[in-house]
Amino acid sequence: MDETDAQNVAPSRLEDMPLTPAAVRTPHGEEGENGASWCVLVDEARTVIAARPRRVVSVAPSSTDGSAPAYRLVVAHPEMFVAHALTTWAFQQLDEDDGPVAVIVADDENVRGVWVGAHLEEVLAFGVPLSAHPVLPGDPHIPQVIRRCGYREDGRRCGVIQRFSCFPQHMPPCAASQLAAHTFVW
Ligand SMILES: [Zn+2]
Repeated sequence: MDETDAQNVAPSRLEDMPLTPAAVRTPHGEEGENGASWCVLVDEARTVIAARPRRVVSVAPSSTDGSAPAYRLVVAHPEMFVAHALTTWAFQQLDEDDGPVAVIVADDENVRGVWVGAHLEEVLAFGVPLSAHPVLPGDPHIPQVIRRCGYREDGRRCGVIQRFSCFPQHMPPCAASQLAAHTFVW
């Protein structure tokens, strides 16, 4: 089999999907693509904590305080096989409710882009083409769902961001300094 054939039967990875370029906002400023239609927020350790399209319509927030992401977000490694990703708990969460969804494709260092829109929705609904080889060699990557804590106190929403690779059997404690101690509210 020549190289072209090998590529044709190789299962697609997330990095092969049509990714939308994203600017990366770090605690020190913004990096990358000018005019990118998405913005991905990372912390000091370059861990992805949030993402949103650049053109946020401020009159239509997803919750009354506007703090919740309008998109349900999963963060996943670029080398992950799409067919495998679709079987994971995190990706199945994207299928659960209505509303826009997005996959932030990022490794420990870099954000490759955001998989979003009609192509993602089609793959979520119908899977990957069967020409993709069904045997998936060991794939160590586990995508994670990004959630904001829904705990409320005196009308204020906690909103602390945590990442989950499975539904927690016991909700973790939430370290919101300004609110009473509580466990994460899904
Ligand atoms: Zn909380």
